[in-house]
Amino acid sequence: MNDTIRSHSPRAFHIMVKPSGAVCNLDCKYCYFLSKERLYPGSAFRMPDDVLEDFTRQYIAAQRVPVVTFGWQGGEPTLMGVDFFRKAVEYQEQYRRSGMRMVNTLQTNGTLLDDEWCAFFREHNFLIGVSIDGPPTLHDAYRVDKGGHPTLDRVLAGVNLLKKHGVEFNTLTTVHAANVDHPLAVYRFLRDQVESRFMQFIPIIERDNDTGYQEGEQLTDRSVTGEQYGRFLIDIFDEWVYRDVAHVSVQLFEVALAAWLGRRPGLCVFEKTCGAAMVLEHNGDLYTCDHFVEPRCFLGNIAETPLADLAGSEQQQQFGHAKRDTLPRMCRECEVRFVCNGGCPKNRVLHTPEGEPGLNALCAGYKAFFTHIDRPMQLMANMLRAEQSPADIMLFLAQEQVELERQFKMVGRNDPCPCGSGLKFKHCHGRRQNYKPPRKSR
Ligand code: SF4
Ligand code: SF4
Repeated sequence: MNDTIRSHSPRAFHIMVKPSGAVCNLDCKYCYFLSKERLYPGSAFRMPDDVLEDFTRQYIAAQRVPVVTFGWQGGEPTLMGVDFFRKAVEYQEQYRRSGMRMVNTLQTNGTLLDDEWCAFFREHNFLIGVSIDGPPTLHDAYRVDKGGHPTLDRVLAGVNLLKKHGVEFNTLTTVHAANVDHPLAVYRFLRDQVESRFMQFIPIIERDNDTGYQEGEQLTDRSVTGEQYGRFLIDIFDEWVYRDVAHVSVQLFEVALAAWLGRRPGLCVFEKTCGAAMVLEHNGDLYTCDHFVEPRCFLGNIAETPLADLAGSEQQQQFGHAKRDTLPRMCRECEVRFVCNGGCPKNRVLHTPEGEPGLNALCAGYKAFFTHIDRPMQLMANMLRAEQSPADIMLFLAQEQVELERQFKMVGRNDPCPCGSGLKFKHCHGRRQNYKPPRKSR
């Protein structure tokens, strides 16, 4: 195999590896990947050693950056057993070029973790993502095992083992019909009980069809609406920005701050184009993206065509550019496009009011959320430009709140609200049930 880097292959790209394919020990109701088992009938769904070695060698050779990230996912990757990952780390060391650093991330449901796993993760500095959807009734609504039983207790046992061994972990929370109306219960559970210091919130937009592919415009009942998702994010943001900026990272808030600073978001959903994050199946098959593991998005097998060629192929480039080139006019003219970029193409199932296809199902939520956070984002971006910590916003907002409370006591019900909303006080902050404005003296 020729490892020469072609000029059209990207400088760096990310591969999400599925060593056990779609196989999982759980049966989460909204999982988009379980149906992918049908693509490989009769398969044992275990990545053979020669595929692991070939992939590692090609992947490292194709990168023109000093840090190479291996993202292990599933199905449930821990079904492969610890020895598979010991071998993976050995191959990384074998093919690593001088000055290169290897990073391993692994997404798990957490239920199979034990001391051996956690000691291994700690020794090799794996960053572990744990899937967890909130407190018991919200998590267990959809995240059940093959027998339909709840799983949260087992997930929390896994999290406790990660903590015991000092393994770095973050949480991935899917936002769905069962938890979307409980944003603060979810957030506070993750912050206070799970002690997650890096949170991701992934909305469920699930097409209702028999193929499991991204086709059809009908969504399942488990999906969220844009409005619901926007409210979910706003409520969490408002709690976070007043008290947690210094010690909790929320991926979407970081992405937004990057956009307000004029930087790239670092998350494919909000990039202008796609195409730099592919998926490797257990047998060496490569697909355009985790959400498009389906025949029309099959790029080739890395045993037959070099990985770098597949990553830089015309097909992959077209897939990536389509995200930008198919944006409806409503997105092209939108004032929050600089941060939204129309969102993930897999969620573009709506028509604009003018009837153009390709509008994101989450549009209303994105617009509401990105508009809501404009001022605090501007403040934090300015703090960073002034080489201050963005966490200083908490002190700033607290002082501002004290001043507002002082003004609320002075204002009449029909006066403009001091918060600057443009509404009368009685229709804005004056509506708070427990707030009794003082009577004006005659
Ligand atoms: S289709 Fe969606 S998930 Fe896939 S690369 Fe594009 S934005 Fe990311
Ligand atoms: S908020 Fe809506 S209209 Fe604006 S870019 Fe995002 S999806 Fe498009």
